Amino acid sequence: MNLFGIVVAAGRGERFGGPKAGLVLGGVPLWKWAADALIGGGAIAVVVVGPVPGGIPGGLRRRDSVAAGLAALPAEATHVLVHDAARPLATAGLVRAVAARLAVGDVDAVIPAIAVGDTLKRIAGERVVETVSRDGLVAVQTPQGFSVAVLRAAHTADDEEATDDAQLVERHGGSVVVVAGESGNLKITHPEDLALAEALLR
Ligand code: C5P
Repeated sequence: MNLFGIVVAAGRGERFGGPKAGLVLGGVPLWKWAADALIGGGAIAVVVVGPVPGGIPGGLRRRDSVAAGLAALPAEATHVLVHDAARPLATAGLVRAVAARLAVGDVDAVIPAIAVGDTLKRIAGERVVETVSRDGLVAVQTPQGFSVAVLRAAHTADDEEATDDAQLVERHGGSVVVVAGESGNLKITHPEDLALAEALLR
């Protein structure tokens, strides 16, 4: 397995209120936390996508930024970990767990997931329509690990929106399995998430 990494750090950060590429946590840029975790967990090298030092240009949608990263991987890459710069607290241990499951070689993709703790309800406007059973539901994180060939084929196969890369692989019949995610691996989506991450770091 020749394992490489892609960290996506582009986008407009609409829910955050501005681009997240320049944000720092504990004095270190978010994208660097993410890249260091990938290297610490066994990636040979990492392509960073976004307006950061050494980064390549991203795209309009997250999937376009991932596609830019895929295009920039060296030819020898057989497997890739795709990770959000917006998840700076994923540990090298989590990266190793994803990579180890991928190395078994029997699946196309491996994603970290955690059980859903909150009660889930479907709403229409302010009105509750139903309570959704949590049975069999998980919340999914990055880094997500893939066979490079399968992820490339999934990207080529359609141009629909996808909130994660595994969804593309699922849509085209690929096999995706989960490993245990980390409750501390929070995603920086809103400004208060960054304050929470700073608190967790301390
Ligand atoms: O916007 P969202 O929080 O879903 O972004 C998740 C990750 O994808 C972030 O790390 C962000 O920098 C990246 N992204 C990107 N290119 C885009 C949109 C998002 O690299 N066009």
